[in-house]
Amino acid sequence: MKLISNIKRLAETQPNALAFVSQDQKIRYGELWKKAEQTASSILNLDPKPLSPILIYGHMEPDMIVAFLGSVTAGHPYIPVDTSIPMERITKIIESSKTKLVINVSEEPLFIEDSSVQVVNSAQLLNHSFLPVTMDSWVKEDETFYIIYTSGSTGNPKGVQISADNLQSFVDWMVEDFPINGGLRFLNQAPFSFDLSVMDLYPALASGGTIFAITKEMIAKPKILFEEFKKSNTQVWTSTPSFAQMCLMDPTFNQELLPELSVFLFCGEILPVSICEQLKHRFPKAKIFNTYGPTEATVAVTSVEVKDEILQEYQTLPVGKAKGDTQIVLLDENQQPVSEGEKGEIIIVGPSVSKGYLGQKEQTEKAFYIYNGVQAYRTGDAGYIEHGLLFYKGRMDFQIKLHGYRMELEEIEYHIAKSKYVKSAVVVPIYQKEKIDYLSVLIIPTEHNFEKEYQLTGAIKKELGEVLPAYMIPRKFSYHEELPITPNGKIDRKQIREKVLL
Ligand code: AMP
Repeated sequence: MKLISNIKRLAETQPNALAFVSQDQKIRYGELWKKAEQTASSILNLDPKPLSPILIYGHMEPDMIVAFLGSVTAGHPYIPVDTSIPMERITKIIESSKTKLVINVSEEPLFIEDSSVQVVNSAQLLNHSFLPVTMDSWVKEDETFYIIYTSGSTGNPKGVQISADNLQSFVDWMVEDFPINGGLRFLNQAPFSFDLSVMDLYPALASGGTIFAITKEMIAKPKILFEEFKKSNTQVWTSTPSFAQMCLMDPTFNQELLPELSVFLFCGEILPVSICEQLKHRFPKAKIFNTYGPTEATVAVTSVEVKDEILQEYQTLPVGKAKGDTQIVLLDENQQPVSEGEKGEIIIVGPSVSKGYLGQKEQTEKAFYIYNGVQAYRTGDAGYIEHGLLFYKGRMDFQIKLHGYRMELEEIEYHIAKSKYVKSAVVVPIYQKEKIDYLSVLIIPTEHNFEKEYQLTGAIKKELGEVLPAYMIPRKFSYHEELPITPNGKIDRKQIREKVLL
């Protein structure tokens, strides 16, 4: 695979160049490759089933990328799992992926109940008398490179399989079509369990760049975050618009803080005009790109540079044009292409579209199919094309984005409804200026002995904390004797939304 060969070559030609920095931890290209080789050789000694996935648990440690590269060079896909993911969810991921090997990169001990799963510490894999693995064992072509788990409406997360070819198509587009090539310094905001992290990780490693990774501790302490920004001297910024908006609240977030920042790459949610205007004002040297795509099509497939003309012309920004090897098709409810300017479901057709969800045939068949001989994905996003540019017009189902995180309202409802204190529950997103500000849940409670509602809320939240990541737990809880029902017996979300807004 070209990407892995590039990293190997960089380790030989620029071994002392920094590959990855996170607060006080760093790794250089030479050491990264050597440790990856040691890890790969130890993985092969453990002799896991060919092509079986390896779960890699940790946060922003440099050894996370060592473990990623170790897995793929040993011929195994990896599943990145951030330390913010609760144990029950990890158990579900292990069950659904049939993972038998877990590499713990974090310093915390990791206990997996299933005794057939082997948990090894990443340091244990650094075998010093190792036999280098050959290119023959690397993950290649249609074999899976990584699996990222996203929220699923059935209550279980779905594992999106991204192959070596999918990832290569994405990385080629990034380094060829964006001004990010040539050993630049990249900022990484997203934890590795989200595919936004792939937007900087592999383009940076493919082009000899350095990744500066933000940790959750930094995000919790803005003072430290800004000190780290300063030290990073970032040139390429990758984040969700929500994260940039948070940074913009601080007036010192400007070109003086990051004098060499030349590119902003955004993906994952609507990029508001107001954010671009502020960024253009504060970072006059930087170009801004809006990109669009789901995890299922490898991070992003369309892009547009948000130039002044675009900002002046549109109140809602376009998401741009498809990358050269990809086609965007808009279909109506009868699966017929719509005409220019008309709204339809966005279908992505091209080489970066995943083969499907791991072990989930039914869900895969619903979302993926072959269009004119090429792999295609039904995004569930609505859009239209005007002047050759794609515009995003929201979701067609209950999938939402909150502060950049993708989630299914039905998955949250499923877990709330499982609580012993809950008869039924409906989760409603609360908007502010066309953006979701927080989630509110309306609950019909079971009989309980709590005197006050906040105690009941506390008890339900505690249960939820064990199964859902914190960002999926609604902020506001309210209790009702009944919830409105439509004439055909379904929960009446429209009426509920109106009720919540009162
Ligand atoms: P994820 O799989 O987390 O990347 O989420 C993918 C979804 O995020 C897409 O299907 C869209 O609904 C939304 N999304 C991604 N990029 C954009 C964008 N630039 N503008 C609006 N929505 C976006």
